[in-house]
Amino acid sequence: MMRFYIMTLFPEMVMGGLNTSIIGRAKGKGLLSIEAVNIRDYAFNKHNSVDDYPYGGGAGMLMQAEPVYQAYEAVREKIRGIEECKRPEGRKAQNEGKRLRVVYLSPQGRTFNQKMAEEFSTEKELVLLCGHYEGIDERVLEEIVTDYVSVGDYVLTGGELPAMILVDAIARLVPGVLHNDVSAEFESFQDNLLEYPQYSRPEVWHEKSVPKVLLSGHHANVEKWRRRQSVLRTARLRPDLLQKAELTKEERELAESVTDTYKIDT
Ligand code: SAM
Repeated sequence: MMRFYIMTLFPEMVMGGLNTSIIGRAKGKGLLSIEAVNIRDYAFNKHNSVDDYPYGGGAGMLMQAEPVYQAYEAVREKIRGIEECKRPEGRKAQNEGKRLRVVYLSPQGRTFNQKMAEEFSTEKELVLLCGHYEGIDERVLEEIVTDYVSVGDYVLTGGELPAMILVDAIARLVPGVLHNDVSAEFESFQDNLLEYPQYSRPEVWHEKSVPKVLLSGHHANVEKWRRRQSVLRTARLRPDLLQKAELTKEERELAESVTDTYKIDT
């Protein structure tokens, strides 16, 4: 089971979105656990506030270090408790000494991609820290954060939507979460190519027919067609990916021949 802990001021926002569909079902089956940790529960003043003005002036408020730190300590305590329960007496914890992965969602981080999702999906526990307002006091970030991850070069009001994006992309790579493990086998970004076009019934829709080869039952030809479409599509829509893709000489020539008038072979 992979465990996600989302540190946030708005637990209902993240949990509402992550309890449905494939991720919700995987939680039900015990393949994942997703827990929102409310940073406000660790407020240390009588007003229950967790933010304050930034030193040096400037617009907006900043989340204070202590509630974030206490929420993090509470997560560590929970994880330690789970490990203790599972561990046979006298044995060392499996991940003793291993640093807990804490991802701060931030526009200043590395832009999230499929490769990062694959890498994070090998962790047993992942902590996601959501900022709000103008962000979080730098000192606590220095102490607890291991990874800074952005979802793109734009600024959102909080880290909750980015955290949900990460959980969704990572969780679907956990074995058993997708009904059919093959569905994650060839997908966009695998081998730095985009996925080929896909079709379902009916065979003709709005006078457009499904490409003949897909009805042929000839597996090798279908695979050949799909690979070619992936190369063409990537060349047209995301040529930047092709620099890192492993292509044969013919495929490279095919990619170079692509112009804006790319059409799907039918
Ligand atoms: N003042 C910060 C800056 O300029 O870097 C931006 C703070 S933003 C308004 C509030 C919070 O939203 C951040 O702490 C972060 O957690 C989240 N956030 C905003 N944009 C994001 C992005 N592109 N990717 C990931 N998290 C983001």
